[in-house]
Amino acid sequence: MRKLVLFDIDGTLVSTRGAAWRAFRRALLEVYQETGPIEDYDFHGRTDPQIARELLRMGGLDDRAIDAGMARFWTAYLRELEAELALPDVTVDVLPGVPALLDSLHAGGEHLVALLTGNIVEGARLKLSAAGLWERFDFGAYGSDHERRDRLPAIAVKRARERSGIHFRGRDVVIIGDTPFDVECGRSLGVWAVAVATGKHSAAELREAGADVVLPDLSATGQAVAAIEALGQ
Ligand SMILES: [Mg+2]
Repeated sequence: MRKLVLFDIDGTLVSTRGAAWRAFRRALLEVYQETGPIEDYDFHGRTDPQIARELLRMGGLDDRAIDAGMARFWTAYLRELEAELALPDVTVDVLPGVPALLDSLHAGGEHLVALLTGNIVEGARLKLSAAGLWERFDFGAYGSDHERRDRLPAIAVKRARERSGIHFRGRDVVIIGDTPFDVECGRSLGVWAVAVATGKHSAAELREAGADVVLPDLSATGQAVAAIEALGQ
């Protein structure tokens, strides 16, 4: 059964080990002179626009001031992220099993493999290019498409249809992510959620959030592919 398989980026495909956090912080300071409580804020599973807005609101800015700076903020963020990723001691780590799993999902030519991420599209491109993975995804739904992650699955389904001519129903879609937000974001469409405990959340937390399958990581390729293909059968 053909599936639309949608991968989250941070904590699922790669770890940027703080590079994106540092870029975000510098861009907030440059444009808003305010970071909000960024030292304690949990970025995981949230969209980039949501992170910026929540931090700046907590820092005392109103939405008008936030929106007025947003275009300049993204320009600054992307410039700082690119600079971070070019530093000799900064690497984007590909998480265990990811290349082999992508190979395996592509091999049969049956499944459509794409991104579903809170990153803005250009941030996703920078991170995955640094990891050598950007070319592996035909398309995606991004934080730059909508501030709310739960709006992204429908955008991915629409793009899949535009590219392949196939209308994937909810039960033909599998989201692979590392946080309860990934697990929950496709619920209204009835999509499946495969959670991987390579981010900040434990297997028990991900199971509690309602994941259909929980894997410790993506290193057991055969097991991961079988789990994805078994959903909805
Ligand atoms: Mg993630």
